[in-house]
Amino acid sequence: MDRQLQATLGEVARDHTATDHHASPMSLAARSNGHPSPNLLTRDDRWSASVIRDLLVHARAEDIISLAGGLPATEMLPAERLSATAAQVLLDPSAAQYGPSAGEPALREALALDLSRPEEPVDPNDLVITTGSQQALDLVVRSLSRPGDTVCIEDPGYIGAVQTMRASQMHLHGVPVDAEGMSIDALEAAIADGAAPQLCYVNPNFQNPTGAVLSPERATRLVELAERHEFFVIADDPYRALSFSGAAPVDLPPSPHVIRLGSMSKTLSPGLRVGWLHAHPDVIERVTLAKQGADLHTPTLNQLIVASLMSDTPWWNAHLASLRASYGQRRDVLLHAVRTHLPQATVRVPEGGFFLWLDDLGVDLAAALDAGVAFVPGHAFAINSDLSLSARLSFSSAPLDQIDTALRRLATVAS
Ligand code: PMP
Repeated sequence: MDRQLQATLGEVARDHTATDHHASPMSLAARSNGHPSPNLLTRDDRWSASVIRDLLVHARAEDIISLAGGLPATEMLPAERLSATAAQVLLDPSAAQYGPSAGEPALREALALDLSRPEEPVDPNDLVITTGSQQALDLVVRSLSRPGDTVCIEDPGYIGAVQTMRASQMHLHGVPVDAEGMSIDALEAAIADGAAPQLCYVNPNFQNPTGAVLSPERATRLVELAERHEFFVIADDPYRALSFSGAAPVDLPPSPHVIRLGSMSKTLSPGLRVGWLHAHPDVIERVTLAKQGADLHTPTLNQLIVASLMSDTPWWNAHLASLRASYGQRRDVLLHAVRTHLPQATVRVPEGGFFLWLDDLGVDLAAALDAGVAFVPGHAFAINSDLSLSARLSFSSAPLDQIDTALRRLATVAS
């Protein structure tokens, strides 16, 4: 099977593993002939098997056009430049050595420079480099919450966040998302009803899965609420640089209650596994300790490759501009195909990022796979809501010349 498709299907499977927590888990004993520890056989809703994974494994993957995964387009990974930079960086043997848990100073400085605004300079000491932003999320959840604590999260919400929070046995409270991001009225009402969140999770720019951007007015209200009710806001923002118009990203107002997460996965390479976290020094101290316990540090070589590429400002800016243009074109092609073949669907038009969200579309994933197209059904992202008539279509990695065919296939099985 083609590597990219394999990864894509893997992501869908992971997506569903994360959310199919009501599906009955297949025991380890049933999957292997060995004798796993009896402790592992205990039913545990944090780690459930996936019905859809089985579906995907049996699907004839080579015939399927995937609009499922949130992967960058392979052709947008700057492979030659990465290879040359890796060779260059490795000339200094310290690139092959252990490094500090908080991250390589060169990368923390490059990121601080990138994130700084005249009115809000970023101190490199307030950053921790993580093994992807997924690890940042995991470390924050583990450092700042206890089992049973409540997290308010966008509904529909990012599956990887749901997975991490469920694994930490948090109670998830879904807050609806509209075109302006999380509804702060609904959040306020939940708090008034006694929700008492310890954490609140949002994607400020081009949310996964709906593509929504949090309005600046809501961003301000969110931080006011966090300060008043003493919870942390996790602003997980991997798509912030991918505005098709080049518009500046929305940032939450600075506050000790805000923890910002970012990633090089969408703009440079997910395989490097480089992400970051920016927060108040007290949070940074705790997270750094958790990071030490988890993996000592993110690979030195990968961090130095990123630092070197970001420091070549003309190249980095041109690279980002080409990503915006390419993903913008992909969005246009998908949007046109959706409007042509699925005129009945309600589309949320994204202004950046990787995803297009559809409402009012009755399509069964199994039927779609039979027709030769994969997507992620809305219910995979649902926290409390019923999203059985919604779907996330990704335009980031499907070949441009297959998108129309994919939508034509989807239309044959849509009701
Ligand atoms: N947050 C969001 C909203 C994402 O969409 C993703 C990637 N799917 C991640 C975090 C994880 O990114 P990383 O590769 O940096 O771990």
